[in-house]
Amino acid sequence: MFSYWEIKNWFSGVDYTIVGSGIVGLHAALRLRERFPNSKILVLERGSLPQGASTKNAGFACFGSLSEINDDLKTHTEEEVLELINKRWAGLQLLRKRLGDAVIDFKPFGGYELFLENDTAGYEECLRRMPFVNEVLKPLFKTDVFAKEVDRFDFKGIHEYLIFNPFEGQIDTGNMMQALLKEAYANNILILNSQTVTAHHEKADGVEVALGEFTFTTKKLLFATNGFASKLTNDAVRPARAQVLITEPIPNLDIKGTFHIDRGYYYFRNINDRILFGGARNLDFEGETTAEFGETDIIQQQLEKMLREVILPTTDFTIAHRWSGIMGMGNHKKPIVEQLSQNTYCGVRLGGMGVAIGSMIGAELADLV
Ligand SMILES: Cc1cc2nc3c(=O)[nH]c(=O)nc-3n(C[C@H](O)[C@H](O)[C@H](O)COP(=O)(O)OP(=O)(O)OC[C@H]3O[C@@H](n4cnc5c(N)ncnc54)[C@H](O)[C@@H]3O)c2cc1C
Repeated sequence: MFSYWEIKNWFSGVDYTIVGSGIVGLHAALRLRERFPNSKILVLERGSLPQGASTKNAGFACFGSLSEINDDLKTHTEEEVLELINKRWAGLQLLRKRLGDAVIDFKPFGGYELFLENDTAGYEECLRRMPFVNEVLKPLFKTDVFAKEVDRFDFKGIHEYLIFNPFEGQIDTGNMMQALLKEAYANNILILNSQTVTAHHEKADGVEVALGEFTFTTKKLLFATNGFASKLTNDAVRPARAQVLITEPIPNLDIKGTFHIDRGYYYFRNINDRILFGGARNLDFEGETTAEFGETDIIQQQLEKMLREVILPTTDFTIAHRWSGIMGMGNHKKPIVEQLSQNTYCGVRLGGMGVAIGSMIGAELADLV
């Protein structure tokens, strides 16, 4: 049970309560602080660290590979796709400006897409559609984004050309999240870990929030719970687990950049002489539609196989570590930033590019208030 002191200092007179301390929750808190310098802002996080995607991701500072954007153009209008990419791009600039490139270790190495030998149809379609996609993106980037490039990394089992995107970069995810947390503390934002919001009810003077048995009142309640927001959104957000592995340091590793395969279903990058490699969710969509963390043999074995056969075919490596994170997906790629009831709001469904879009969505969520 909380003490008198704890209740007095942390849970009384709360103006804004944010659920979730991921990228979105922390950006929302910082934006609220800009708008309301004297308000009491509380962030509740159920993990000992942020426990969703923000500290688990691959750190791509990206806005979509050619095959992904081409795919999106089949299910979204050109305007929708451009708007989404515009937001990701603007979000990346906001993140870099807020925290600084040195702090987040931003590296503008560029991004590449590889096409597996058995995906000739996808490869040819992308090469054919590249000029069109470049035209769609021109209002934003003023120049071609995607270009063909010969593989200089000695990958195996792929088609001749890679697609290069010079606007893509990479960051150190751990540095970014630590910097955001520091910034939040410095701005007098109260962050409480190991606190799970179990229920909430609108009342005349705000929202009653339950942490199990304990309840308190906040004027406004903002959910930034992404992959854990199914109930809140009537299943418009579904959890999507993503598994990752990282190698031990590899001497003379020559691979630099962020790399995409198969419409973003596989992704790898260099980090501190290691390769971080994730994906293969498409091998088991059903099993990976879960909010439970964990690694499975089918996916981990496929990641290792691709690493051995395609990415590092002539290099010895050992796997140092494996983990997973939970993303929030849905039928539409657009995040949901909405007022749910009188004093309750949400900013969720960040998909696979929340590093880029998270800062913008956090700000938009805060601006709903
Ligand atoms: C393996 C992996 C790789 C990825 N790679 C990239 C990448 O390279 N580039 C990119 O742009 N994006 C990437 N993403 C996606 C990106 O990480 C996410 O889109 C982004 O982190 C979402 O941020 P968020 O704040 O919305 O959600 P989260 O970071 O998931 O934060 C939600 C928080 O809410 C908390 N929470 C949930 N329910 C409750 C509750 N009831 N009470 C209290 N707290 C609660 C959770 O514990 C969690 O910390 C990747 C994701 C994964 C999993």
